[in-house]
Amino acid sequence: MADTLELVPEDPSETAGDGAKPAHVRIAIVGAGFSGIGMAIRLREAGIEDFVILERADDVGGTWEANTYPGCQCDVPSHLYSFSFQPNPTWTRTYSLQPEIWAYLRRCSERYRIGPHLRFGHELTGARWDEGERRWHVETSRGSFVARLLIDATGPLSHPATPPIRGLRRFEGKLFHSASWDHDHDLTGERVAVIGTGASAIQFVPKIQPHVGQMHVFQRTAPWIMPHTDRPTSRFERQLYRRLPIAQKLVRTAVYWTRESYVVGFAKQPKMARPAEGIAKLHLRRHVRDRELRRKLQPDFRLGCKRVLLSNEWYRALTKPNVELVTEQIVAVEGRDIVLADGTRREVDTIILGTGFHVTDPPTAKLVRGRGGVTLAEAAGSSPRAYLGTAMAGFPNVLRIIGPNTGLGHNSMVYMIESQLEYIMDAIRTIDERGIETVEIRPEVVEAFNEEVQELHEGTVWSSGCSSWYLDASGRNTTLWPDFTFRFRQRTRHFDADNYELRVGSPVAS
Ligand SMILES: Cc1cc2nc3c(=O)[nH]c(=O)nc-3n(C[C@H](O)[C@H](O)[C@H](O)COP(=O)(O)OP(=O)(O)OC[C@H]3O[C@@H](n4cnc5c(N)ncnc54)[C@H](O)[C@@H]3O)c2cc1C
Repeated sequence: MADTLELVPEDPSETAGDGAKPAHVRIAIVGAGFSGIGMAIRLREAGIEDFVILERADDVGGTWEANTYPGCQCDVPSHLYSFSFQPNPTWTRTYSLQPEIWAYLRRCSERYRIGPHLRFGHELTGARWDEGERRWHVETSRGSFVARLLIDATGPLSHPATPPIRGLRRFEGKLFHSASWDHDHDLTGERVAVIGTGASAIQFVPKIQPHVGQMHVFQRTAPWIMPHTDRPTSRFERQLYRRLPIAQKLVRTAVYWTRESYVVGFAKQPKMARPAEGIAKLHLRRHVRDRELRRKLQPDFRLGCKRVLLSNEWYRALTKPNVELVTEQIVAVEGRDIVLADGTRREVDTIILGTGFHVTDPPTAKLVRGRGGVTLAEAAGSSPRAYLGTAMAGFPNVLRIIGPNTGLGHNSMVYMIESQLEYIMDAIRTIDERGIETVEIRPEVVEAFNEEVQELHEGTVWSSGCSSWYLDASGRNTTLWPDFTFRFRQRTRHFDADNYELRVGSPVAS
């Protein structure tokens, strides 16, 4: 796969790298996870080859390339958490582990031959809209170029967050985030601190617990944990799906509708989520006999308000003699000590951050400058907003995949990604057919959409008063789609050109 910025000239008179004119490309996709790979596949299927995919990492996969921590696993069944057009009959578990999902994405990029478009080790470092040229000037860690259309597929969970703990960066032991696991570092017999008890920590803590000497798990809020139904798939199932693809399709459909029914409890009739709380409480009681530990592990908010986690191992790991669950607040790190609000300290060799990601304030938002040189971050203020999670006012010819309010607490993100791919492809078709040069969402459309989404959030479990990474700096939920996902699909089935300011000229893509 190519790893230098060799760009196909858009016009033969424009040559790359002659010093006079920067290289041109019609479409620049940033990010090679499910979104970027999916976008590339759809472009190629439509006969569009003049595009590049910039990826800061050295391989495709996004989330599934970066998160290699022990036990990393999807929490939506694999039959659904995969592309609809590329089923995998050979998943070895019902909820696949990271190596299998990563291998699947690598296979997809090979099968659909997107390799020649990939530019690994190319980090987007800046993008500026030139109003005169009506082009994006794109800067990467390995060169700059000009693009007509920018597709932001940088992902909602791709920028690890470090908690603002005084002295953390000066910690004298080993420090790493779960999203950049240091596999060369041997934890055997060590004193380890794990900060955070979210989706990643509950997966890796049970895997490392038997090997470490002592582990202190620092919890700010106890998550709701449901029993996991993960199991190995049988040889019979795999053969069946290989020989009879319709059977796998039926399973996928059944999983989709089962997950979709959770919206009723989360968003429409939150009282209906009560039985699930009962199951989670029983799960806790079954695994944790110690009353004091159980009290610390009992969530104090409604199930669903923060992401519901699945595990049969988490509670068990926390009851082991070499594990301490600490609920006291961390105030500082000094030398090798973690200093707590009650004045006590824990001396450790390694700190592992399971502290999640910059979701509503991604660093890439500071890199993209639209009309008047305004960055996405400046335009968003404390609350990002985009029409259908895709289009931002003041940012012509930029389309985002998994932008604000497209996240899910209950179903597969790949479904949302595929919905947006359909919308973007229809936008490109419209642009071509009508000879449109710039396409920009009308500000009033973004505002109306945003109001609608915020209204839908009222009364949902996500607005029931917990603090979660779904909320932005203003306290609004700008992460989740607050409705059934099939409604999102209906809204994104066709590109609604009337909601956009369109300037006619030469086409964006052909
Ligand atoms: C541990 C974990 C488990 C998850 N499990 C599930 C699950 O079970 N079900 C589910 O629906 N969702 C899950 N998710 C959410 C997951 O992120 C999405 O499902 C999906 O993978 C997002 O794909 P993406 O391509 O949009 O983003 P990503 O996979 O994050 O890909 C974005 C890519 O952009 C690249 N990038 C970012 N910034 C730059 C830059 N400046 N320049 C160049 N490249 C850049 C990154 O390197 C990355 O490769 C999980 C997330 C995590 C972290």
